Amino acid sequence: MNLNLCNICTKKIYQFYELKSFPINIYKQDKKNIKNKTLKLFFCKYCNHISISRIKFENKIYKFYKKKLFFSKNYKPSEISGKKKILEISKEKPLSIYGLKVDHFTIFNKNYLNISKKYNKIIVSDCISNIYNIKEFFNKISDCLEEKGEIEIFHHYGPGIIKNLNIDRIYFEHINNFSYKSLNILANQHEFIIKSFKLLEKKNFFKAILIKKKILNLKKNIKIPNKNFDLISKKHLLKFKKKINLIKLKIKKEFQKKINKNNMFNIYGYGASIGSVAIIKFLNLEKYINKLIDNFSELKFINLDKKIIKIEKKFHKNYNNLVIFNLAPRYKFLIKKKVFNNSDKKISYFELLPSYNSIKKMPKAFNK
Ligand SMILES: [Zn+2]
Repeated sequence: MNLNLCNICTKKIYQFYELKSFPINIYKQDKKNIKNKTLKLFFCKYCNHISISRIKFENKIYKFYKKKLFFSKNYKPSEISGKKKILEISKEKPLSIYGLKVDHFTIFNKNYLNISKKYNKIIVSDCISNIYNIKEFFNKISDCLEEKGEIEIFHHYGPGIIKNLNIDRIYFEHINNFSYKSLNILANQHEFIIKSFKLLEKKNFFKAILIKKKILNLKKNIKIPNKNFDLISKKHLLKFKKKINLIKLKIKKEFQKKINKNNMFNIYGYGASIGSVAIIKFLNLEKYINKLIDNFSELKFINLDKKIIKIEKKFHKNYNNLVIFNLAPRYKFLIKKKVFNNSDKKISYFELLPSYNSIKKMPKAFNK
């Protein structure tokens, strides 16, 4: 496979960003063996697909994958009646669907190639961006789908990376970031058609339903959306870089003086997932952050090549001059509440994405 060609439409792709020494996975807690590699971001002008450089052994990414399951509040599989034969394919744990029997396969070690039955409904949940051999995957699920069945796909919406600055979605796991157009091309290559396509959570996620082309005449109501929403132009790419530089600059302005004074500030990052690592890397936060906080992480530290940052379940509310960076933009509201709850010390709290925002308040005043 030529690395400079689009994985979906085979047209030429362009590199538009790179991050030096990005961890391949953060789930292996052995300091010596954690590997870093340059992460490159590519864009396909033809189908708006955003791809990420591949690593040689994809299973390295998942071997130590331990993340607990979090699901979008806005995502529920649609229209499942009790009689359907349902299959779910995900990274690891299945999504529980009340009262329904659901078969489950994962993408690890191409576990999905072992599917042997046929299904009316196949849910590809939270993993379409992660699949290395996407065409082989589609061939397989196409074979396993009943004639009149449907495939439901839920994941990050690729153009959101550029337009909404979803840089916390950029890491070695997400090699294929689908636009409507690239998904449509992939669907067509496998005799499918997109029956419905919805953008969720401020256009950061999509839910698509695919059916076989053959049964198209049975479904007359397919509306082909106005595709302008999907376009990414050079202007968008320039804006993406400009916004990142601007946030970096603001952080530098705020903190350069402070860290020179040594230990006067306790600087925490709130969130310790691979997505938080992406934010740290993109915004050059390594030198500022002393510790990470994560209420759910099973990890003890994150190794960022030049620096190892410890993870705690809670931050020390009694510290003076507490500074907190939000490294999980999706949980903005929740984190803000936790940060300002029950502490009577001065706190400076920074939201970085999609735009820079700082709140410096006495917490009691905030709660009123
Ligand atoms: Zn393409």
